Amino acid sequence: MASPSRPPDSARLDRIVAEARRARDLRETTYRERALAIYPWVCGRCAREFDRATVSQLTVHHRDHNHDNNPADGSNWELLCVYCHDNEHSRQRDSAGRTAPAGGGEAPAPATHKPFAGLEALLKRKE
Ligand SMILES: [Zn+2]
Ligand SMILES: [Zn+2]
Repeated sequence: MASPSRPPDSARLDRIVAEARRARDLRETTYRERALAIYPWVCGRCAREFDRATVSQLTVHHRDHNHDNNPADGSNWELLCVYCHDNEHSRQRDSAGRTAPAGGGEAPAPATHKPFAGLEALLKRKE
């Protein structure tokens, strides 16, 4: 007896997840562009300056670590270079203790060098 060959629902689920990711990506691109438009391209910690060639190393940090909190005046944003941003978050992780990643299992090894700020945001659900 042949079983009906329907495409698995997971294919549709994959598409939904991909669309949600794209929407989040778009939203993050939007706040990043807004932050870069209203703030000088200088790291808020080490005062390193950036230009069009190096701006990919400048990240938008959320002061309250909530990516959904994006006030139009930029009061929740702080521009940090990737190194200072990484520092800021590892300090938070150290003081908060280790939290297991949602979903359990093997988490990807944390990268210490992050050339792409967008990728970093995609890998992390919460800051
Ligand atoms: Zn810096
Ligand atoms: Zn941050």
